[in-house]
Amino acid sequence: MPPKKVFIETLGCQMNLADTERMLGMLDEIDYSPTDNQNEADLAILNSCSIREHAVHKMHSYIGKWDKNRKPGSLIALAGCVAQQEGEKLIRDIRTIDILVGTHNIHRLPDLVLEAERKRRTNIENGVLGAEENRGMHFQRAQVAEIWEALPEDIPEVPIHRKSKYHAWVNIIYGCNYKCTYCIVPKTRGEQRSRPIAEIKKEIQQLADEGFKEIMLLGQNVDGYGLDIGTSLAQLLREIHPVNGIERIKFLTSHPCDMTYELIETVAELPKVSKYFHIPIQAGNDEVLRRMARRYTRARYMELISYIRKLMPEATITGDIIVGFPGETHEQFMDSVSVVREIGYDACNTAVYSPRPYTPAADWDDPISAAEKNDRIRLLNAVCTEVAEERAKRYLDTVQEVLIEGLSQRNPRRLMGRIADNKTTNIDVPSITDASPRPGESEEELNARIYKDLEPYFGQTVKVKITKANPWALRAELQKSLCYAHS
Ligand code: SF4
Repeated sequence: MPPKKVFIETLGCQMNLADTERMLGMLDEIDYSPTDNQNEADLAILNSCSIREHAVHKMHSYIGKWDKNRKPGSLIALAGCVAQQEGEKLIRDIRTIDILVGTHNIHRLPDLVLEAERKRRTNIENGVLGAEENRGMHFQRAQVAEIWEALPEDIPEVPIHRKSKYHAWVNIIYGCNYKCTYCIVPKTRGEQRSRPIAEIKKEIQQLADEGFKEIMLLGQNVDGYGLDIGTSLAQLLREIHPVNGIERIKFLTSHPCDMTYELIETVAELPKVSKYFHIPIQAGNDEVLRRMARRYTRARYMELISYIRKLMPEATITGDIIVGFPGETHEQFMDSVSVVREIGYDACNTAVYSPRPYTPAADWDDPISAAEKNDRIRLLNAVCTEVAEERAKRYLDTVQEVLIEGLSQRNPRRLMGRIADNKTTNIDVPSITDASPRPGESEEELNARIYKDLEPYFGQTVKVKITKANPWALRAELQKSLCYAHS
């Protein structure tokens, strides 16, 4: 029997991207191989996100579209935060879903898939469902749902199908103990649980043995790592730093309350740790921060930034800001604008406040009109872009080391990778950028030749000179004489 195919659409954050890699790894063990084409999938999974309202709308639109195009006999599964948030009732409300699995029990996915396959077979054998049946008779479909209220005591280690061969996500902490009044994460991801250092180190050692060069330590509140098991992120960084083969270590996402001076000093001291900090501030005004229950003030945040800049003047700092939180006045909003200028973010994710069910702020009066919110976010985005453009200029004409991940998506004649500070960099390679077909060579043959010439760079750390810098990406030229910096 040919292997079955699984298609996964991932919405939301890096935690979901990491969960998708775990799902693919587990499904491989029951003979499902990945496909990029939903129409040919035997199993289509939506790894959903509930952080904003439009992500939930997207979920409905994906599931509806998939149901119309689904391959006969195929299964549709919903995983991720919306599944966890809404629970098992969702499978009764959306009859086109065959499998529902929460964030706390994704290790159960293979069993649930096998159970759904079995149920479907039984339905067909009993004549309840035609073998070619796609739509209708939803109540007789193979509906299998399992949502756990919390992570299991011992979180099972599962196989992981890594998308990249060089860059790996490593979960170090699950859940979050804060209760920001706008945030659904504590409901969908549960309480903070740190993984033991020995287990994380073992995973990173294995990754190094397999040729991975860069790891991203992941958590909803990565700075809270270890608080529940008597250690810290700074300690973890020191423990994993000596692992041979790993060239870069990054971490995401920081919380200003738990970020310590010790951590900042450790990042400054350890050469393999990227000087890159993603620290959401969410608002520049103390009263708004108080109502968000963020538990820090603008002054505390600025102290952290000053200390980072003191030890690492060139460090990349990125953030998140919510616009139009219920009751935010124009003056309070302008504090968010001024904080962007004061910090000088390299990039800042902005979003209009979106009420989420089961959160306190969803029940609060929200007198700010949609038009006002749109005006505010337009102004804030313009300032963020202006500030980031200014910051990006510091890279111009500098030489940077880039870990090559593959080809540029926009131009397959360029290499694409990231500098240590995480910025995407598209690289021109002399002799390739202007390559033209040889006599008798077709366009297809030329592209194949270019790919063959560029492929040896994949996974290498090379030196480049930055030729253009904008807030979103850098352009660079390969330094021919210096290439393969660490080969
Ligand atoms: S710190 Fe706040 S915003 Fe971040 S995951 Fe926890 S509750 Fe949500």
